[in-house]
Amino acid sequence: MEEILYEASKRCPKNIKNGPCGAVHDGRCEMGGICAWADAYKILERGKSLEGFDKIRGMEKYYSKDKDADTGFLVGSTLSKKYVPRLKDKDAEGDKGVVPFETKFSITTELDPPHGAKTDKMKDFLSALPKVDGVNIVDNPLGKPLMSGILPALLVRKHGYIPIYQITCRARNIEAIQSDLFSAYASGVRHILVLTGDYVQKGVKPVFETDSTILTELIKKKLAECRDFSDALLDKPLDFWVGVAVNPNATPLEAEIAKFEKKMKSADFAQTQAVFDKKILRKFAKAISCPEKVLVGVLPVKDYKMANTLSKVPGITIPKTFMDKIKKDSGAGMKLAKDIMKEAKKLGFGGVHIMPMMDAGIINGLIE
Ligand code: SF4
Repeated sequence: MEEILYEASKRCPKNIKNGPCGAVHDGRCEMGGICAWADAYKILERGKSLEGFDKIRGMEKYYSKDKDADTGFLVGSTLSKKYVPRLKDKDAEGDKGVVPFETKFSITTELDPPHGAKTDKMKDFLSALPKVDGVNIVDNPLGKPLMSGILPALLVRKHGYIPIYQITCRARNIEAIQSDLFSAYASGVRHILVLTGDYVQKGVKPVFETDSTILTELIKKKLAECRDFSDALLDKPLDFWVGVAVNPNATPLEAEIAKFEKKMKSADFAQTQAVFDKKILRKFAKAISCPEKVLVGVLPVKDYKMANTLSKVPGITIPKTFMDKIKKDSGAGMKLAKDIMKEAKKLGFGGVHIMPMMDAGIINGLIE
């Protein structure tokens, strides 16, 4: 098994070490060709050798026995054993609360930071937003550079909402990820969504030093215990609520679920890719162990043109029957979004994550 998984991680353009990303569709990679991870999963499944797949791989370099506990420098195996974890920071505990979101059926939404430095659109969006449990600050979707998340997170807090700070592995190395997380925590962020990230735009060099499974584990096991990723002591623990992403549209779904369950061993909540098909949602609900921790992605489509553009985004599946409906009636998008929300509640999911494309009015229409 280890050899098959090692080969898959070498072949994966995102250098993922723990299973397929959500962009896999019909076993194919968003970059073209066969998805190395879907392929590896199929081989193991066929050989009935999936036992042990749930182990998180790629952690070794963060747990070297040869590192000094206080400095993180390589000095010999005995020193690291001297470390006794500090008690958790009282402020951090107090700030964080006891559940990721207070509402039983939670509603989160998302904010697109500007492609530049103008903040008016963000402020207008937040001022018009109805009561929701949290607002994601998206991190450069599809590799397009947007304003980084700290200022938007502060704005979200100022407007009375919980900021959910998205952090992807695409454009930052381990050092930059930690620096961003330190700033986010100091700015009052307690909720983060950890993503491997979409692939990059042409001509841009990707990083992908780590993947979302490893990063989730590092944040929960190291930062929360007052350690940086190289085991050096921090000045205070960073005790985040950590969310992860999952894609109910991914095929093969089994491989996506196996990776999701691995991430949920350390994560606190999850948000899904947008779902446009109740059948897909029901199948997904049956396949996972913790629907109550999952917020289902809902994207209200405004018209046929938008549906057509979305249908070409890796990881999104829009059924043909819906495409036919929205061609004749642009109101079909809102109707489907409401249906998906009702179905999510019926199936026992923890809530919904609405993707409004910066139109706060749409959320009003959905949660009225
Ligand atoms: S679809 Fe995702 S996991 Fe599969 S090979 Fe491509 S980038 Fe890697």
